Amino acid sequence: MSAPFEDALHEECGVVGIVAPGRDVSRLAFFALHALQHRGQESAGIAVSDDGHVMVQRDLGLVSTVFDDPALRGLTGGSAIGHVRYSTTGANKWDNAQPVTRNRGGGIVALGHNGNLTNTDELRTLVADDPDPLLATTDSELIAALLAREPGSLLDAVCAVMPKLVGAYSAVALSDSELVAFRDAHGVRPLVLGRFEGGGLCVASETCALDQVGATYVRDIRPGEAVRITERDAESRQALPAAEPRLCVFESIYFARPDSRLEGSSVWGQRRAMGVQLAHEAPVEADLVVGLPDSGTPAAIGYAQESGIPYAEAVVRNRYVGRSFIQPDQELRRNGVKLKFNPLREIIDGRRLIVVDDSIVRGNTTQQVVAMLREAGASEIHMRISSPPLAWPCFYGIDMPSRNELVASSMTVEEIARMTGATTLAYLSLDGLQRALGLPASRFCRACFTGEYPIPVPDTPLKLRFEQPVRA
Ligand code: SF4
Repeated sequence: MSAPFEDALHEECGVVGIVAPGRDVSRLAFFALHALQHRGQESAGIAVSDDGHVMVQRDLGLVSTVFDDPALRGLTGGSAIGHVRYSTTGANKWDNAQPVTRNRGGGIVALGHNGNLTNTDELRTLVADDPDPLLATTDSELIAALLAREPGSLLDAVCAVMPKLVGAYSAVALSDSELVAFRDAHGVRPLVLGRFEGGGLCVASETCALDQVGATYVRDIRPGEAVRITERDAESRQALPAAEPRLCVFESIYFARPDSRLEGSSVWGQRRAMGVQLAHEAPVEADLVVGLPDSGTPAAIGYAQESGIPYAEAVVRNRYVGRSFIQPDQELRRNGVKLKFNPLREIIDGRRLIVVDDSIVRGNTTQQVVAMLREAGASEIHMRISSPPLAWPCFYGIDMPSRNELVASSMTVEEIARMTGATTLAYLSLDGLQRALGLPASRFCRACFTGEYPIPVPDTPLKLRFEQPVRA
């Protein structure tokens, strides 16, 4: 979904936790967050623990705008957590920036969370008598408030709170003496453990963050596991009974960086394999295979290799669109695709193109892309989508429109092809997706394709309604 503005699915959040006494942990956290910037561009924050004190700096904006050199120099300590955020729940306001903090046992607990809880109403009643009012409007502050009420070590508190949480969470919590990472029973959002040469451990949403700070991948944090990280050791507790793992399949399709590895498997390799499979399932005669950058590129390369049709870079992407606080005017917004992509007429003119993208959300971006390529002279445009039709909303941390806004929930593939103006349109099948991933379907959450939600969703899920065009 190489989509600008309203039609884009937004990554959820990214978290990092580092214990490395003697090293500049806030700087390490900064660079790890920089590698995770694609997972959230609305706010960034770092909390450090220094000699019994927890200090936090967080603000709206990109990692590089929230932190400068003096700010990082002021954040000294032996351990740190960090967070980048896109608001899947709660508004984009300062109070919702993370790490969120709560007073706990005479100190402070700071929390960074990636995911969405689905029982927030129930959790709110559990903290209703809390003397500290909830300032944020996020489920993350609820987790912090619950941790603040639990006695004992931070690891004890996390293990006591986890059974109360329903939904998706990969989280890091920091007190003046402990750093704990924890993951929901199904492991919907990724979380990996890494080790620094010479001492120190870290956790991060993706392995690309470990690479960035020079840490070596050790293993994935297990579903339902809570891990207290120290300089030398990761003390593990299985806080929840091991459930079937259900990693979000969209991490493989779109969200994770292509240079990351998910459960040991290369994301770039997975996407290329999706393209190979798509070439098997939906062949067509054409002159060139084009990937919509960047997310469609690996699958386009796979399609080209398998079909023997040459791959071409025919669209140039402006990488900075959507990362600015300056919004385009109405006219530019309507034509959002032109802000993000510019076609290379000399390559496209008179050619039959196979255009590979990773998904279609509402369909208006695909429509604009097809129009842009026709204007640039393409004689045929065969859209090939490297995932199945997206027909159900997400409740586990992805900002997705309600069901009636997802074009595949109410239109057939032929109807979508007509609506977008593509010469032909084909999606990767669910079986084909699984074949490309090389793992059984039972290992993944695939609810946005199947409507089968592995974790209970709220009782009155506005996102599921058809009658009203509501935004949840
Ligand atoms: S519903 Fe879709 S986007 Fe959400 S967690 Fe499941 S697979 Fe991922």
